[in-house]
Parts: sequence; C-alpha cells; structure tokens
Amino acid sequence: MRWAQLAFVEDDPGNYDQSFWLDYFRRIHADAACLSAGGCVAFYPTQVPLHYRSKWLRDSDTFGDLVKGCRSLGMNVVARTDPHAAHQDVYDTHPDWIAVDASGNKRKHWADPDLWVTCALGPYNFEFMTKVTEEIVSLYQVDGIFSNRWAGSGMCFCEHCRQNFKNFSQMDLPRTLDPQNPARRAYLVWHQQRLFELWRLWDSRIKAINPNAAFLANSGGGALSELDMSVIGQLAPTLFADRQARHGVNPPWTNGKNGKEYRATMGNKPIAGIFSVGLEEEYRWKDSVQSSDEIRLWVADGIAQGLRPWFTKFNAKPIDKRWLPVVAELYQWHFENSAYLRNEKSLANVAMVYSQQTAAFYGGEKAHAKVEDAALGFYQALVEARIPFEMVHDRLLDEEHLASYQTLILPNIAALSTHQCEQLASFVQRGGSLVATFETSLYDEWGVERKDFGLAELFGASFAGRREGPMHNSYLTLEPDPATGRFHPLLAGFEDAARIINGVNRVLVKPLPGSAASPLTVVPSYPDLPMEEVYVRPLSQKDPAVFLREVGKGRVVFFSSDIDRTFWEILAVDHGKLLSNSVRWATRGELPVTVRGKGVLDVAVWMQQRSMTLHLVNLTNPMMMKGPVREIIPISRQAVSIKIPQDKSVANVQLLVAKTKLDFRSSADTVEFEVPGIDLHEVVALDFT
Ligand SMILES: [Zn+2]
Repeated sequence: MRWAQLAFVEDDPGNYDQSFWLDYFRRIHADAACLSAGGCVAFYPTQVPLHYRSKWLRDSDTFGDLVKGCRSLGMNVVARTDPHAAHQDVYDTHPDWIAVDASGNKRKHWADPDLWVTCALGPYNFEFMTKVTEEIVSLYQVDGIFSNRWAGSGMCFCEHCRQNFKNFSQMDLPRTLDPQNPARRAYLVWHQQRLFELWRLWDSRIKAINPNAAFLANSGGGALSELDMSVIGQLAPTLFADRQARHGVNPPWTNGKNGKEYRATMGNKPIAGIFSVGLEEEYRWKDSVQSSDEIRLWVADGIAQGLRPWFTKFNAKPIDKRWLPVVAELYQWHFENSAYLRNEKSLANVAMVYSQQTAAFYGGEKAHAKVEDAALGFYQALVEARIPFEMVHDRLLDEEHLASYQTLILPNIAALSTHQCEQLASFVQRGGSLVATFETSLYDEWGVERKDFGLAELFGASFAGRREGPMHNSYLTLEPDPATGRFHPLLAGFEDAARIINGVNRVLVKPLPGSAASPLTVVPSYPDLPMEEVYVRPLSQKDPAVFLREVGKGRVVFFSSDIDRTFWEILAVDHGKLLSNSVRWATRGELPVTVRGKGVLDVAVWMQQRSMTLHLVNLTNPMMMKGPVREIIPISRQAVSIKIPQDKSVANVQLLVAKTKLDFRSSADTVEFEVPGIDLHEVVALDFT
C-alpha cells in the first residue's frame, strides 16, 4: 500500500544513517521498500566479474543490511538495478557491450563522462545483467527486481543490434524516425520483441530462484510510452507509474491520468505511483525539495485515481529535509484509511481510449501534437465537467474490458485496425455510445490512410478526401432542429450564442444517406485581415460539423474537427462545454455522481469491499495549468448526489480528511449530501449496511 524508495549514491555506504531511515519507514507505515542493489554500482559484495562495487563499500553490505532492517519491520523488499551505464573496465573488456550512435561512435554517458552508455538489446543485458539479477535474488531472496532504464537510451547501432535486426528483417537499421519507412516500422516491432524477450528472460531466472518474486520493469505509460501496455498487463504482477512530478506545463491531474493508463491494462493489480520530493525538470536538480503543497496535490491526485504512494529519494544522506514531515503526514493518513483505499472497482461509466499504435504509426515524431494533445484536451474538459472517467487501451476493446462503460471517447484515435473498428461497432450494438473526433479510424493499425473512416457507418459520415488546417477564423453555426425548432442537448448552454469558434483542423466529410440534420455547421475560414474584409462570405451549402446518431440502444457523436486538441491549445470555454455536453448526451445523463459547487475538482468514485468512496481533489489554483503550486486554495460547499449500487444501502457517510460525519438523504438509488468545504483532497466514505 505504501512504498519507500531509497536510491543509494556511491558514497552512501558507511556514510549514511541506516537507523534514521528504518525509524522513518516505521513511523510512516511504509510496507514495501525499493533499495538500490546493483547494475551500474553494486552496494553489496558482488562476485560477478565486472560488476562495479562502490568504492565506499569496503567489507560491508550496505544493501543487505538495509534489507534485513526492512524485513524486521515486516516490509516487502524489491532490489533496484540500473543497467544503463557502465564503467571503463566494462568498455575495455567488452567494447561490444557499449551502445553505438548513428555515426558509429561508442556512446559516452551524457551526464557523467567517466561512464559509458550500454546497449540494452545485446549481451550486456542478456548475459551480464542476467548474472547480476540472479546473484541478487539468490543472496537476498528479494520479492522482485525493479530495473531502472533497462530498455536502452535511444537507438543503438552496435554490431549486435545491426546483426540481430538484419536477421529479423533482412534490412539495415533505419536512419529515419518516419514510421511509414519499412525499416523503421520493422525496427519498432523488433525493438519491442527484443525487450519483451529480455523481460521474460529475467522474470524466468528470478522465478527459478524465488518463485514468489518477479521482474518489475520500470516501464509503462500512456499513448506515448514505448512498450505495448496490453502485453505488460499480462506480464507484470504489479507496476510502478514513474511520473515523479510535473514537468513544464503539466497540470496536477497528470498523476491521476497516469494511474488510469496503467490500470487500463493492469486491472486490479496494485500499481504504485512513484513521486519525487524534488523538482523534475530538464535541469535535474536531484537533491532538490519541492513545495509541500505541490507534493501533496500531486500525490493526492494519484491516490484518488487508484495509485498507491511511492516516494523516491536519491542519496541516503538528505541535505534538505523539508519533505520528510510532508510525506509522513500523507502516509500516516493513508495508513489510517487503508480500508477505504483498497479499491475493488471504479464506478465510472465513461472511458477515454488511448492508443500506442496511433502514437507510434500515425503520430511518429509528432505524436505529442497529433495524438496526445487531443487526449489532454478531452481530459481537461472532463475534469472541468466533473465527470469521473477511466482510460481504456485500444487493444483491449473486447466485451469484458468494456463491460463497465456506457460511453467511450476516441480523441483522434486515428489508427485502428478493422478488428478494432468491429469491436467498437459491437460495443455500440450492445448499447454503448461513442464520442469521436477528427481523424479517428481514418488509418489502419500501421498508420496507413484508408479510403474512408473505418467507423464511417457508425459516424454516418464519409471522408471527402481532404483536410483543412490550420484554419484561422473558422466558426460553427448553431442550427435548431428543423422539425422542432429546438436546439439539440449537445448545445445546452449555447442557446443565445448563434455561433461558436471552430477547431483549428478539420477533415472534410460528407454525410451518408439518412444522416440527421447536424446541430452545428461549419463557417469556413474567412479573412481575419484587413479588418474591412472580416465578414462571412455566402455559403453554397452547409457542411455538418458534428454527426449525432442513435444506433440501436447506443449513441454516436463524431466531430469532424480537432476541437479536443484545440481546447488543449486555447482552452476556450465553449469547446470544453461542447465536449462535456457530447459525453453527457452519449451517456444519457446517467453519470454515477453529480458534484455541484465552485472550483475545479478531479472526481473519482470507487467501490471497496464494504464501502464506496468519492474522491474530490481540489485542483482550484491560480497556477493549475502550469503546476507549480504555492499553496492550496480551499473551496466552498459542494452538493453531491451519488448513485448507490443496486444491492447496497448506505448506513453512514463520513469525510476521511476532515474526520467528520455527514447528514445525508437517501432516495431510491441515490444518496445526497453536502461537503462543507475542501482544502486539498476530501474522501467521502459511504459505509454500506
Ligand atoms: Zn546495441
């Protein structure tokens, strides 16, 4: 439930205070530890040739002693290895173990010129690190090996990589990042296979020594991550989301998003969220300490979205100690409320699809802008709308994985196979709803453009062969229903607007026969200068901008422009409202919880064995969209109406942070109450009778 990571630095042996840390672990009720053992530097008396021992180690066993101490506290212990860098003697003995750059030079370490970068896909990992791994597990019977930076540091052109890739593909290693280049495509497949081969090798060698232990890769993530999360979900018994703090302009919900992405393929397996107590920026101040409230907010959002906290500290001789009481307070609260944090099921009925294949084969080098930004925009819109939701992996669109959801969101999920499109069609046939944007399904799983959307029939729209953008000064006209003269629920709140701004890019589409009239039509770009020319030109026809369909019991919404991506760029309120309205319409208004009040909240609803919880993380902050939180700004009263699962009734409602009981009203399947105010994070616990 609560992890502590101490990553030793070379001069820690003999120079750090072990009893201080054991006392801290005990006080904060940490029940698992990740401790540095070997790889680049060994912190135990290794016998593996070329396994570099810390110069400070002498006859001691720094790692082993701390393992003993943690075990005496009843903690699980995972050993950390880091194979990405090696010392000069490795280079001298096995020059072929070192990574090679595109010009054929062996790679010096970018941060420490005394070290060399190793090749992850050759004998250094497959042979040498396998021996190191076996030695650590044999000597200490640890519960797992957590390997950091095990998957390489960029492309390697060493003799092994060149030969192995040639054997796989009959091609030379690609010199381009274009995913439509045949060698690059083959490389992406081979690279992944090779890493999973390594994963299986290490895992099997670990299990041969300790059947209860496992290889725990420091890997995983969302659309932009490199290894297929659906395979990781099968291989890993647990995983650690290593997104330690904000970087640049990450909003504080980034940590929760990460939790959702991991859970999408890991299901109910426990997942820890690794957080740093320092700043995680380009300049890598590894001994820094972050503002207390920023640490609190980052961790709270992770906990709300199902991550178990894991703090990481490099250097066992802390210089700036301001973080220690902050983490202690977080962990003590977590310990006291453990029963309410052992989640069994999220009650969200909306989910957003993420697609690594779309990022890799359609996005390529521009994956962030073309793929991730659309997801981030939709994510922000749902947070603002206080709609709880999950993430779904695009390779897990089968009935079982989608069973909990009424609505799936496809934020420019451009690359989908025919099979995946069929799975989405079946989902709609079963009564599910879709909200899709821009180029969703216009490419196959390899990023090759189709003649028409794979989901054209569901959209009720066909690709007209053209795209437009970036468009300046384009709008959407609100169209009342020609039959009733009333506005569609998609336009709720816009009745007095006449028109709103369009996205920045659009695909040109034509309605399929039988499509309903569109409540939004496109006002194409018109000059934005000189001012005398800024008037709307007459239109020969009205182009629909959104397609809304009822398909059996399901509903489908398709926006032909990139309003989710544009929302992330511009954050125009109308786009946010349009996106959340589309989800509400698709979900028929049947959301598991409604929270009314001022402020920005990240909302999650969970079931435990004998209770359910509502997490409300207060993101309201003048600095929310950049993340550098200075202080928490409390928000006022929130009125909550929450649905209770059919076979349950509620005996008691309490606030786990404010530590008070709440009055509540029950009616049919709903419980209503008011939360008087929220500082950072409130967890409302509803105990079942
Ligand atoms: Zn290599």
